[in-house]
Amino acid sequence: MDNKRPKPNYFWSILTMRCPRCRRGPMFKGANPFKKIKLSYILDMPETCPECGQRYDLEHGFWYGTGYVSYALAVAVSVATFLAWMVLIGVSTEDNRIFYWLGLNGVLLLLIQPWLMRLSRVIYLYFFVSYDENYKQSKPFEFDHKL
Ligand SMILES: [Zn+2]
Repeated sequence: MDNKRPKPNYFWSILTMRCPRCRRGPMFKGANPFKKIKLSYILDMPETCPECGQRYDLEHGFWYGTGYVSYALAVAVSVATFLAWMVLIGVSTEDNRIFYWLGLNGVLLLLIQPWLMRLSRVIYLYFFVSYDENYKQSKPFEFDHKL
């Protein structure tokens, strides 16, 4: 056990979908979200982190909140493609270019949906669980329901 290991980068850990607590254990069983277009495959997570034992599904119905995250992500992707479209192709009231953007953006959102669904869960869990460099010794994060 060495405590000298460097702290993995926050954004990199989110992008590579690592556990928020140790930033090392993977959050999904299948590495590739596009391998099978099946919800049971895309959202197949181990119950706890294989590296630090952190529970992912913090309580019953925990993942319902990811709806807000995936909505925000979809808006962010749309803004990004719109800006790219404006710069590269241009937008005008004289023609239908804007509708091509609308259609393509819709198709893109549909295509990256498996990845967005996973990313939403990762970002959502990162709101609650923070990095713990002593994850080997300390106890995993859980909600404290004793009031
Ligand atoms: Zn972990």
